[in-house]
Amino acid sequence: MRPDLRTQQRDFLLEITRAITAQLDLSEVLRRVLHASLVMLAGRVGIVALSDKHDGKFRVRAFSGIGADDVAQLDAKLQELMNPLDDEGFSREFLNRKLREMADVIDPRLAQSIAMPLVFAGKPLGLLIVFRSYQTAITSEDVATLQSFADQAAIAVNNAQLYGELNQEHQRLEAILNGSGDGVFILNPDLTFQRANRAFERMTSWPREELIGRPKSDVIVWDSLESRDIEDALDAGWATPSPLPGAADTVYVEGDLTRRDGLTQSIGITYAPMFTEDGRLESIIANVRDISNFRKAQEMQSVFISAVQHELRTPIAIIKGYASTLSRDDVEWEGDIMRENLAIIEDEADRLTDLVEDLLTASKIQAARELRLNLADTDLSAIAARSVERLASGSKRPIDLSFSEDFPLIPGDAIRLRQVIENLLTNAIKYSPEDKTITVGGRYTEKSVTVFVRDEGAGIPKDQIEKIFERFYRADDKLRARTHGTGLGLYLVKAIVEAHGGEISVKSQLGSGSTFYFTLPRDLA
Ligand code: ADP
Repeated sequence: MRPDLRTQQRDFLLEITRAITAQLDLSEVLRRVLHASLVMLAGRVGIVALSDKHDGKFRVRAFSGIGADDVAQLDAKLQELMNPLDDEGFSREFLNRKLREMADVIDPRLAQSIAMPLVFAGKPLGLLIVFRSYQTAITSEDVATLQSFADQAAIAVNNAQLYGELNQEHQRLEAILNGSGDGVFILNPDLTFQRANRAFERMTSWPREELIGRPKSDVIVWDSLESRDIEDALDAGWATPSPLPGAADTVYVEGDLTRRDGLTQSIGITYAPMFTEDGRLESIIANVRDISNFRKAQEMQSVFISAVQHELRTPIAIIKGYASTLSRDDVEWEGDIMRENLAIIEDEADRLTDLVEDLLTASKIQAARELRLNLADTDLSAIAARSVERLASGSKRPIDLSFSEDFPLIPGDAIRLRQVIENLLTNAIKYSPEDKTITVGGRYTEKSVTVFVRDEGAGIPKDQIEKIFERFYRADDKLRARTHGTGLGLYLVKAIVEAHGGEISVKSQLGSGSTFYFTLPRDLA
């Protein structure tokens, strides 16, 4: 090569490598590398193959002067080449033979092929191959120039690959953040918002665009807070890196947040500090959990516990009171009074038995997630008649029975089904005035039987109809205060009916009463 040509070539090379290394998009880098090498070597066909991140095999990633059909065949040949920089390496003849084979795949008239490995920091990234239609001698100086070009190209490829991976990682993180059900937000050290995810947007009703740059105190407005928020922890020196790994602890706060739209939302926030390498606070990452369900469960549990306490204490107190009165030595009780008092004791003992039975059933359902039944031919009309007899005496009002004639036997667990009817009847008695009628009845079709319990009480508000079957759910405070109950009855009723393959439903009109229906199959499926 003539000296002036060489200078020209070097200038061109410099210019081109600058243009290449300035690029971060991998396919653009490859396109430019390919273009520059074809110009430099007056090549007709060029390919850049890169080593695949997963299996290490070379695959064509950019090509010029050939059709896409040939690329698949070249890929196969490249796999045979494997990694020319493996410790064992392979001979120049082997490489030349493979290059010849590749040239033949493309066009047998191609006379010369020049392969340059792309290596960065000892790591083989790929291979650049240029095919020419004619053959010329390549001097060692040419090889050196080409090699320095290939080294620059390798740097550019490596940068672009790293950038691509970073970008991908960034996108993955973004997808995780946005797909997460938990709210996430990141604060700058001055406690302004750096970013937030979609779940956080939903929880606070703050659009994300409006959050960025805004002070935390604008957004995290506590209606009530159980512990102190992050500001106090910061004042106490929380966000200073600790010499012990993992000791820069997270801070957890929980309370009721006033959302932007004015509603209240129970949340728990876990704050974690992030430090720069030299130990300065870089940002604070916060994970926000919606704890409304947990709160509700806690509330229900405590309502339940106080209800159970009350339910247990009342009959015990009554039994004890009557029993100690009756056992006084100084009074001779008349037979009638004695009988009346004993009947009360018996009633209260029954109430206790029912409650214990309900509690046991509920814990069995919870433990096993289903109820085991002892199935036998069961006469629901007879069970209903007995329950009416038992409960009517206590309620001092008539309870009508209305079963169609020849009401059929069904496969069922008599003890559990008695629990269903008695729970429904007890509710009807509890939630309707004493002068109103209650009816228990049954109808049947070829396939199923339906039993109903109707009252003329206060009815159930529409928005509570679904909830009353939930465990521990009890009516609004006023009614709750006036009536006994644990909120377990309908939960058990539903579980037992469903364990029989049946369904429970309710029709209710505020002010005029409610009717609960349960339908059971006449034959087991
Ligand atoms: P409890 O009666 O112990 O509160 P239940 O599970 O039996 O628990 O009932 C849940 C709630 O459903 C009751 O607190 C009450 O508000 C409502 N409810 C049930 N039956 C009736 C009814 N017949 N009329 C009106 N409300 C009812």
